[in-house]
Amino acid sequence: MSKTRSSQPQFPHPRATVLGYDAGIPIVPVTVQRYDRVTQLRISACPYCGRSHYHGGGRPGEDPRNYQGHRTAHCVDLKLSMRGYILRIVETEPRQNSRAGRSTPSRRRVVHVTK
Ligand SMILES: [Zn+2]
Repeated sequence: MSKTRSSQPQFPHPRATVLGYDAGIPIVPVTVQRYDRVTQLRISACPYCGRSHYHGGGRPGEDPRNYQGHRTAHCVDLKLSMRGYILRIVETEPRQNSRAGRSTPSRRRVVHVTK
C-alpha cells in the first residue's frame, strides 16, 4: 500500500455545512448568540478547518443581520482560509431578558400564544 501524501486538505470540511457558493466563496450558516454587551455569530463547523468560529454580530441594540456577509475565516491555517466565507444567519437564540422579576405571585397561568 502506498502512503497517501497529505497534500491538499479536504474542502469543504466533512463536518461543515455549506449552503452554497458565491463566486467560489462558501456560504456558511451561523447562529446568533446574544450576550449582555455583545452579539456573536457562531459557525458550528468551519468549511476550512471544521472548528467553530465566532464573529462579531454587533451590540445588543443592533440587528445582527447587518453583520452577515463576507468575513475572513478565523482558522489557524491562514493559507487555507484566505478566501474567507459568507455568514448567513439561520437561527437566532432568544435573548434572556430579565422580566423574571416581574412575576405575578398568586396568579399562575400558562398562556399559549400561537402566532
Ligand atoms: Zn476555520
